Amino acid sequence: MSEISEEMRMTVVESREWYMAAYAPEGVPTSDHLKLRTVKISLALDSIPDQHVVLETLFISLDPYLRSRMTGREDGLYSPQYNLNEVVSAFGVGRVVRSKALIRKIDADAGILLPEYISTLGVPGFAAWIGIQVVAEPIKPGSNVFISAAAGAVGMYAGQLAKLKGCRVVGSTGSDEKVRLIKEEFGYDDAFNYHTETDYDAALSKYFPNGIDVYLDNVGGEMLEAVLNHVNRHAKIPLCGMISEYNKVWTERKGVRNLLNLVGKEVKMQGFLLGSYLDRFGDFAKEMESHLKERKINSKLKIVHGIDKFLESLGSLFTSSNIGKVVIQVK
Ligand code: NAP
Repeated sequence: MSEISEEMRMTVVESREWYMAAYAPEGVPTSDHLKLRTVKISLALDSIPDQHVVLETLFISLDPYLRSRMTGREDGLYSPQYNLNEVVSAFGVGRVVRSKALIRKIDADAGILLPEYISTLGVPGFAAWIGIQVVAEPIKPGSNVFISAAAGAVGMYAGQLAKLKGCRVVGSTGSDEKVRLIKEEFGYDDAFNYHTETDYDAALSKYFPNGIDVYLDNVGGEMLEAVLNHVNRHAKIPLCGMISEYNKVWTERKGVRNLLNLVGKEVKMQGFLLGSYLDRFGDFAKEMESHLKERKINSKLKIVHGIDKFLESLGSLFTSSNIGKVVIQVK
């Protein structure tokens, strides 16, 4: 907590925030749904609720789950929904101005870039680690691992963690540039562009002649269905997310027709949410921090400048226009 002068205790500061103006049950949220406003915040200690802090926000994490909290319906994905008129809260890195709570303090002198605390050492790194190191365990060296949205935030770390376990790793992603990137910078053995190789069954036959042992699913829908035709006996499918379905009402989502293959191949398919694994966060952070420092894990950040860019940056998660982890630098 920083030292606050008597003058500052009485200070009222202006803060800009995005809020939920109207729900977006389908499609990508627009300026009809999310609006930016300026509010006044008092720094007087009495006006800060218990278990809250006043932060000067430095970096904001853009995560697909944010969109799932904007449908206005509890539909089994992530909850709770934002209330109408409520500020959109997100993970971030900030400087504590005043505190009435304990929060995760980071060592700014540890030699790690601040936005890495919401990438390699934040939600996407943790999701990749839980998916590969916990839900898919045990993974034998030489296993055939498939990862979708492989050039995204979770995908880039998941592929590298699987490579560190001695697996053969193939990814799918949305452009030729990203195919090249994940092979050259993240060590994927192979990759394909799902926008050009649109027959996913044929693509998986080509890239997995010996079948799939582990599939970390980030996209769901047609890709998940295709994968189920290529799984090996006792394959494991950690379900991290299904981004291809987030902008649809549930009745419009793609059904997976070949679930029967899970029975015949005795496959373990398991969804997971990070909130259930917080007791593993310490192990994860220690391991990933040492991978990062030893350059065993590469990270690619797409840094967008200015809080005004939040809406378009959120929308960019639902196209193939971004690479790596999308972060907003506020200051
Ligand atoms: P991200 O990959 O950085 O961004 C999303 C990417 O998904 C896009 O860049 C795009 O890349 C791909 N995509 C978008 N629409 C798609 C579609 N219709 N079909 C196929 N691919 C599409 O996002 P992330 O943060 O790493 O998240 C990845 C997944 O993990 C999401 O499903 C997210 O909800 C999930 N997640 C789950 C947890 C958990 O606790 N379970 C935690 C964090 C994240 P390309 O099209 O170029 O491949």
